[in-house]
Amino acid sequence: MRQDSLLRIGKKVRDQFGVETAILRGTLNLSRAFDSSRRQWNSTVLLAELLHQHPFPESKTVAVVEVDLFIPVLTFVFGEAQLEGGAAVVSTARLSQQFYGLPPDDEQMLSRLEKEIVHELGHTFGLFHCRHFECVMRSSTYVEEIDLKRAELCARCRALLSSY
Ligand SMILES: [Zn+2]
Ligand SMILES: [Zn+2]
Repeated sequence: MRQDSLLRIGKKVRDQFGVETAILRGTLNLSRAFDSSRRQWNSTVLLAELLHQHPFPESKTVAVVEVDLFIPVLTFVFGEAQLEGGAAVVSTARLSQQFYGLPPDDEQMLSRLEKEIVHELGHTFGLFHCRHFECVMRSSTYVEEIDLKRAELCARCRALLSSY
């Protein structure tokens, strides 16, 4: 992921949540989260690892990983967050066009990643899923649903956030 792409996402996060952001390049030991029968990584285990390996008690941390994530009841997840917690994880695995056998599109990939990061961070700020069709807190099962929403909170979610 290019630095200027990450800075763009950082700016979006700043705008949406009114917080300072920092972009850190770090490593995360994924081995404990790996499920050999599914050949995917358990996002809940990864969240615990993230907090253990990179504890930033006063901050919220979003880890962006390339591996495919799951929670036991679902085939896959784009990401997972601790509700009102300190950590979230987002996977780029299913955000690329190549995953669906299509030609690469870096801008689309970045746009999807931006929305997923804002979405998961919204959960860490206590926001639940929203039914507003354009709201970033709308839940997305398929990548097409990510493309339909915007990278911003709707007015209602924004109001909820300000009471956080
Ligand atoms: Zn969600
Ligand atoms: Zn909303």
